[in-house]
Amino acid sequence: MEDPPPPPPPEPEPEPAAAAASPRRDVEPSPPPPQPRRRLLRRLRSAVQHYEWGRRGDASLVARLAAQDPDPARPYAELWMGTHPSGPSTFLDDGELLGDWLARNPDALGPAVAARWGGDLPFLFKVLSVAKALSIQAHPDKKLAEVLHALRPSTYKDDNHKPEMAIAITEFRVLCGFASIEELKDILRTVPEVEGLVGHEDAGKLMSMKDYDGGSEVRSSLQSAFAKLMTASKDMVSEAISKLISRLNIESKIRTLTDKEQLVLSLERQYQEDVGVLAALFFNYVKLSPGEALYIGANEPHAYLSGECIECMATSDNVVRAGLTPKYRDVQTLCSMLTYKQVSVTVIYCVMYIMLPLYFTCSTLKV
Ligand SMILES: [Zn+2]
Repeated sequence: MEDPPPPPPPEPEPEPAAAAASPRRDVEPSPPPPQPRRRLLRRLRSAVQHYEWGRRGDASLVARLAAQDPDPARPYAELWMGTHPSGPSTFLDDGELLGDWLARNPDALGPAVAARWGGDLPFLFKVLSVAKALSIQAHPDKKLAEVLHALRPSTYKDDNHKPEMAIAITEFRVLCGFASIEELKDILRTVPEVEGLVGHEDAGKLMSMKDYDGGSEVRSSLQSAFAKLMTASKDMVSEAISKLISRLNIESKIRTLTDKEQLVLSLERQYQEDVGVLAALFFNYVKLSPGEALYIGANEPHAYLSGECIECMATSDNVVRAGLTPKYRDVQTLCSMLTYKQVSVTVIYCVMYIMLPLYFTCSTLKV
């Protein structure tokens, strides 16, 4: 973090006319007093989050970046750089909070950011090391974030939205947004265990949709079908998953399973009897290569599945979860907040100027 620029040096005093006119002086001018050395860079200590889904010990990039001697049995899931109160960065030399320093030195943010954000960082930067799937989740837009925070501040601690971008460091697998109507119809046709939970009526409505229907009718049919799946009873979900897993295990002996079918088997090993195992079939399944990036806007469902990435987002930790998690689930809010837009996932490639220094750091650290 760069200190604010020092004030400009004072204008030199004009010399008396007589002295200026004189070719020699009796007294040599004294040398200027030494200037205190400016510190252009100060190292930060960034917070580590030990969420259960993180990679353990040395296998985690987060651990290699942040820990002197990583505990091989402990998950190192996220490294946070920023001022969020759940994981604020501090200066390594004197332990001062980055947020306190910025509040005293808002000029360091530049005038536009300081004027709009009042001397605080508007973004949070993270490194993620993912060993097992994160929850199926979405982040509210600004307006909904304010409502959720006002109603349930202990669950939704921020009144801020959380649009985010993930840039893959290793191969990074993600579920993101709803699959196309054709793919959803294929799921309903070929996965009777899901069709059974959605119910014939809602499944039939979706099956009758055409790509060009677009608009609100597809969205409301999809919302109704997805909500049926997510709110099915625990027993029904458990039975459907059990049937699906045994069927896939048998079929794997006579044919190659699709990527999504293999994903279902993998998710079930991580989260037994969790409705998220089935919900995964509703989403786009994306594999990012190193250097590729994905933007996730407000109210879009997603789940990070495996790999390592860097992530930048608005300073917020508002997450509405509904599956693949032992944490609190707010299924009703999630089902009502989603956009139900079916857009193909846009992978962004032009990030090498960010990736090159990171590759260098990673190779230095023997990633
Ligand atoms: Zn997210």
